[in-house]
Amino acid sequence: MSKTYANGVQALKNVNLTINQGMFGLLGPNGAGKSSLMRTIATLQEADTGSIFLDSLDVLKEKQEVRKVLGYLPQEFGVYPKITAETMLDHIATLKGITNAKERKEVVESLLQKVNLFHVRKKNLGTYSGGMKQRFGIAQALLGNPKLIIVDEPTAGLDPAERNRFHNLLSEIGENTIVILSTHIVDGKGKSGKN
Ligand code: ADP
Repeated sequence: MSKTYANGVQALKNVNLTINQGMFGLLGPNGAGKSSLMRTIATLQEADTGSIFLDSLDVLKEKQEVRKVLGYLPQEFGVYPKITAETMLDHIATLKGITNAKERKEVVESLLQKVNLFHVRKKNLGTYSGGMKQRFGIAQALLGNPKLIIVDEPTAGLDPAERNRFHNLLSEIGENTIVILSTHIVDGKGKSGKN
């Protein structure tokens, strides 16, 4: 796959890769083309040449089908500050097609527990710390049991302990899903959180 922007910058040049289940990291400095690749896989922008397949789905053509099985956390993830996490997640769950209120409540509660925000579910998102907002971002990306999860620089604003927790959460999820993660941070630490 290749992509040159209208300003002449070639962000992707003959990228060719296969990504399997589990966590797949894109590591490179700012400007390397990580977001360009992720936005293209997330059906948010076109490639100039090339193709992407998710199993038999043609990602660049069957966008709606891809979106049904996609969870995406963009680099800039804005939250509505005056809405609680619970209300917002419930709303996104409706948008993702979970129309049954009881089912939605169960899904939302279990996700809030998974990302360790259940105890603060009734607080407005505007009161959340950077780490809490990122965990909320992951919760919304997990709604609807996606087959493919794309998270763009999710730990850039987090402290090292939060970053470790975040990676552990993602690698748990990654066991039965494709998780694509980008970062420009190499800190040489394992994910045990002990360093
Ligand atoms: P990364 O995510 O690795 O930081 P990006 O994919 O954001 O890299 O950017 C790759 C290159 O493409 C950079 O030179 C960036 O300035 C350029 N770029 C990204 N998005 C656009 C755009 N919408 N229009 C023009 N140039 C862009």
